[in-house]
Amino acid sequence: MSVKTLPCSDEKIRELAATYGTPFHLYDEKGIVNCVKSIQKAFAWNPNFHEYFAVKATPNPWLMKILKGLNVGADCSSMAELVLSETVGLRGDDIVMSSNDTPDAEFLKAQELGAIINLDDISNLDDMERLHIVPEKICFRFNPGPELARGNAIIGKPEEAKYGMTREQLMQGIAWAKEKGISYIGIHTMVISCELALEGLLGTISMMFDLANEIRDRLGVTVSFIDFGGGIGIPYRLEEEPVDIAALGEEARKLFEEKMKGFEHTRISFECGRVITGPYGYLVAKAIHYKHIYREYIGLDACMADLMRPAMYGSYHHITVVGKENEPATEVYDVTGSLCENNDKFAIQRKLPKIDMGDLLVIHDAGAHGHSMGFNYNGKLRHQELLLREDGSVMQIRRNETLADLFATLDFPGLKENAAKIDNAK
Ligand SMILES: *Cc1c(COP(=O)(O)O)cnc(C)c1O
Repeated sequence: MSVKTLPCSDEKIRELAATYGTPFHLYDEKGIVNCVKSIQKAFAWNPNFHEYFAVKATPNPWLMKILKGLNVGADCSSMAELVLSETVGLRGDDIVMSSNDTPDAEFLKAQELGAIINLDDISNLDDMERLHIVPEKICFRFNPGPELARGNAIIGKPEEAKYGMTREQLMQGIAWAKEKGISYIGIHTMVISCELALEGLLGTISMMFDLANEIRDRLGVTVSFIDFGGGIGIPYRLEEEPVDIAALGEEARKLFEEKMKGFEHTRISFECGRVITGPYGYLVAKAIHYKHIYREYIGLDACMADLMRPAMYGSYHHITVVGKENEPATEVYDVTGSLCENNDKFAIQRKLPKIDMGDLLVIHDAGAHGHSMGFNYNGKLRHQELLLREDGSVMQIRRNETLADLFATLDFPGLKENAAKIDNAK
């Protein structure tokens, strides 16, 4: 069982709604900080352990700055993510650039920042040659293919996933790096996503330890860096249990002792996103419409442009009705947004207390892959982000998008003027 609580009092949520308007994403700094510390503590047995935050989960520089203060690096996969990382002051091996179908300009930027360049494919060696990049620190992403029976809905079966290289390609890549005189060579994988079972997570770890040994046996290279990617899950549903991070660290330590003699200087890393910000981000929206047809509908002032996971993956996100936490769930609702897509639903046939118009609804576990997956279909504007600091104060860390933002790339007579009338009236 997991529990779903709010990061502050109902009164405070109402006050924030009155001050900033709804909807908003609210992040709880204390929760994020404690989570990072628990991961670092669990893996402190590895002297070089490093956590890289997967920037795509919550690409806000204010959050990245907090993470940097905790000695957390960044895992990037785009120019924007590299520039965010650069701007919060990350450099060198505090950045991993995980490539996949990566444009030249991004490889060059990663090289400029001294990032660890994580190559996704053997053909990237040609890119390196063509761009005259000899990374100081290089990494190769492994795709075990059908060797790995597991895999799950988000990433799918490894042999159907577009990421990573085969075992033989990886050996070829490492031989290339050795020949180039690169002394810092790492291996990476990410074959599971949102995994709650320790066995699944440890399976990846064990597979990578075996791979490191094989590389040493075949090529005489002792990898400097083993990156397990992200994929630590969070309990979206009440009946699910959070991952016991301390136990994961302890079991990983045992595997390391068993399999990794002579790898004492090898850095172990994760690139977690979801587990770090997911549970500590809340989407707060207001009930603005009620509709009674074949089902009962509650319409919110947020939509799937604010949180796409339910529509995209059919994901469950727990909902709390502010002030009605202790009322019995007597109603069954579909909780919807205003997009012209029938899958724009935050919850389907959900038992909830009776909702009145104006009630505030808190959608839980929206901190990772939430705001960041936002989009502008239907011309929907993406909403603000607020940060609840450890001292209880609140800071707006992203403002609401405006029509002027939306139309910024359209040069059409009169459009900007008409947009301004709406924006200025707000
Ligand atoms: C998405 C991603 C992550 C983060 O995954 P989470 O499930 O959020 O922990 C880490 N590394 C890579 C390469 C990714 O693509």
